[in-house]
Amino acid sequence: MFSGDSDAVTPAGSSSSSSSTSLSGDHWDNPCECKDERCCFCRLFDNGSDDDLANVPLPGAKPTGLPKEFHCIRCATIPVERIFQCQNGHLICEGCYQVQVLDKMLCEALGTCPQCSVRMYRHQPNRNIAAERILSEMKVTCEHCGTKMLRSLLRSHFRAECPERLVYCKYRLIGCPWYGPASETTGHDESCEWPNKTGAELVEFLSPLQAEREARTRLLEQIRDMLQLPNLSVRLLHVLPQGAIRQFPHNEFVEVCKFRSHFQRWSLLLNWQTPADNDANPQPMGSLHLRLKLDPQENWNSKLVTSYTLVHGTHSEVLFLPNLCERFEFSPNQLLGPPALVYRHTMPHCKKLLIERGIYVRLLIASIGTY
Ligand SMILES: [Zn+2]
Ligand SMILES: [Zn+2]
Ligand SMILES: [Zn+2]
Ligand SMILES: [Zn+2]
Ligand SMILES: [Zn+2]
Repeated sequence: MFSGDSDAVTPAGSSSSSSSTSLSGDHWDNPCECKDERCCFCRLFDNGSDDDLANVPLPGAKPTGLPKEFHCIRCATIPVERIFQCQNGHLICEGCYQVQVLDKMLCEALGTCPQCSVRMYRHQPNRNIAAERILSEMKVTCEHCGTKMLRSLLRSHFRAECPERLVYCKYRLIGCPWYGPASETTGHDESCEWPNKTGAELVEFLSPLQAEREARTRLLEQIRDMLQLPNLSVRLLHVLPQGAIRQFPHNEFVEVCKFRSHFQRWSLLLNWQTPADNDANPQPMGSLHLRLKLDPQENWNSKLVTSYTLVHGTHSEVLFLPNLCERFEFSPNQLLGPPALVYRHTMPHCKKLLIERGIYVRLLIASIGTY
């Protein structure tokens, strides 16, 4: 994790290279340096998600030998949800349809087919039921346990039935940290010490958990308050796969998408932090940071104060950590918003996430004032 003031990226069009990040809130990085694993802030900011085990990319199952016409024209994956198409029959998955057609309409630009550029109208959704059916009735194999099933059943199998799916100990509520494959729960249950702990012992473990929940609730309340702001706009963005995940220097961000909002052009930048190769940790964690950049027109010379948060889109494979940037002032000398940690998980999940389908992001951004 890193703070914005180590930022060495020189924003294009900026005359200053010494941009510093002044945050009015401390929600982007863990403000605490105690490194105590039971500390509420360290748990809140380092644990990744509401539920690490659930927050993994779902299997898409790639049946081989399918003609390329069955792949989404935009993200090249084989769709698992509803499938839309343009007048010329090019298929587009539901997540991409949302970004390509629905969001285009939100900002009054035209929704078009990424392949042939014909118009796609929001009020005339055009589904391809035949393709949906063919794909959902294909036989696939669970990559974890080898069971064969219909493709449409794979995700519910992975969530609820697969013996290799990860589950928590049933005493997690009172603090047992164990998790493992569902097939090993019986073995753990026999040796789990948590049912025999005294009330006094449990309180010691539960107090920090309670504090963590309260910190999270406060943050969500602040986000709810942000939603009351009058000049709020919503953008649906897609962070497409960027090839292999590599180790980024802490201050290096790459642009992953561009959009318009509040009469300005913006881009979303991405940075992966991966564990060092010599890390002895058996479950090394990777983390994904996103940050916002204002791409001003030439001679833009004012200040724009915004509050914004990134949340996962409807079709995103993963959930996001709650994050909020309050009253951030963009100016010609400060075009980069602070980095936000949005995802943290073991490396196989990080890799799978970006290589397979990318992430659908909803950006809620409120303009508080221009001056
Ligand atoms: Zn701490
Ligand atoms: Zn797609
Ligand atoms: Zn088309
Ligand atoms: Zn399975
Ligand atoms: Zn247990």
